[in-house]
Amino acid sequence: MKNIRSGNSKFIKDLNQALILNIVRNQDPISRSEIAKMIKLSPAAVSNLTDKLIKEGYIREKGPGSSEAGRKPILLELNPKARFVVGIDLERVNTVKAAITDLRANIICKKKHFLKDTDFSTVVDSIVDIVHELVDASGLKIEKIMGIGIGTPGLLDHHKGKVIYSTYLHWRNVPLSALIEQELDIPVIIDTDTNAPALAEQKYGAGKEAKDLIYITVGPGLGAGIIIDGQIYHGIDGTAGEFGHTIIDPDGPLCSCGNRGCLETMVAEASIIKRTTEGIRKGKVSLISKLAQNQEGLITPKIIYEAALKKDKFAVEVIRETGYYLGLGLVSLVNLLNPEVIVIGGDISQVADILLEPVREVVVSRALSVPAQRVRIVASHFGKDAGVIGAATLVLENIFQIPEVNLSSVR
Ligand SMILES: [Zn+2]
Repeated sequence: MKNIRSGNSKFIKDLNQALILNIVRNQDPISRSEIAKMIKLSPAAVSNLTDKLIKEGYIREKGPGSSEAGRKPILLELNPKARFVVGIDLERVNTVKAAITDLRANIICKKKHFLKDTDFSTVVDSIVDIVHELVDASGLKIEKIMGIGIGTPGLLDHHKGKVIYSTYLHWRNVPLSALIEQELDIPVIIDTDTNAPALAEQKYGAGKEAKDLIYITVGPGLGAGIIIDGQIYHGIDGTAGEFGHTIIDPDGPLCSCGNRGCLETMVAEASIIKRTTEGIRKGKVSLISKLAQNQEGLITPKIIYEAALKKDKFAVEVIRETGYYLGLGLVSLVNLLNPEVIVIGGDISQVADILLEPVREVVVSRALSVPAQRVRIVASHFGKDAGVIGAATLVLENIFQIPEVNLSSVR
C-alpha cells in the first residue's frame, strides 16, 4: 500500500506523536502531564507535540479535569471528525457496499451498488464511483479521506494488495489496491471479508474488551476471522480461518473443496435451504411454504429467518439444528485457541437468539471445561454494517499504528 496521504504521512508516523495520538485515542480524556508520565517525556516536550496534534486537528482540548489541589489540568481528547476513511465490502452477491467513517469507525454516510458482473474492471469502476458519491453526499473534501479499506472474498496477498484467487469473484491475480490507488490517489488496504469484520468487532464491537476473538460468518460459505492479541492472524499464506472446511463427517455431503462432510456443508446457507426443502417435502407444515409462494425454488435463507423470527416451529427447528452443527465445529476452535469471545456474523445473526442457544449448549457440554466456561459466544454488534466498518477499521489501525522501533532506544 502507499504511504498514508502525503502531508499526513510524515506527521503521523513520527514516533512520539504516534504514541501520544494513540494514548489520547485509547484513554481520553487525558491531561498532558498524565501523558508525560506514561511515555517518560518532559512536560514541555509533550506540550510541544500535543500543540502540533491540536493544530492538525487530530486532538482537541476538552476543558479542565479534576484535581485534588491547585490548578485543574486541561484534558485532551481525540477529534474523531479530524479525518475520515472509507470502508468497502465486496459482498458475495454482486454487491459493493461502502461507507465513510470517522476516526472512531462511526458511519457518516453509506451507499450500495449492484453489479452487472464481477469482472474486475466493473468492480474497480464501481468502487471509484461509490467513493466519489460518498464524498459528495457527505459534503467532505476528498483530501480528508486518509485511506480506503476493502474486505473481499478470496485468497489474498494483503501485503501487496492483491487478490490471488477468488472463486466468488472469478478473479486471478488482480492487483486491486494498485488499480484503485491509480484512479483515486488514496492509499488502499485490503483483507478478507471475514478478517475485516473480525477486527472491527474486536476494536469497536462485541469484543472490544477482549484481545483474542474469533469472528464466524455464516452465509454462502462458512469462514472465521481470527484475532490474536489484537492483530489479525493470517497464517503464512493468508489462508488462516478456513473453518468451514473442518471435516465433521468423512462420509457426509460433498463439499466445494472436494472433500466430504466439511462443516460448511452442514451450516452454510445451501445446507440450511436443503434441510428446509427436505423437511417440507416430507410433509412439515411451515410458514416458509407460504412465504415462498409454495414454490421450493423460492425458499431463501431470508424467508427461513423471517419465519423463525415469527416463531414458526419448523423454521426454528432448522435454525436450532444449524446451531447444533455450528457448535460442534466451535468445540474444536474453543479447545484449540481458548478465545475470550466468539462473534457470530453474517445474515444468520438476525436469528442469533434462536441459533446461539444450541451453539452454547454444545460448546459447554463438549469442549474442555476451562475454555468452555471462559468463552462468550455472541451475535455481531455491527450486523449488516460489519463488512464496511471492518474495512474502515483496516485503515484506522494502519493510521494509528505505532512505528516499529525499539522504544527503549529512543527514550
Ligand atoms: Zn470443504
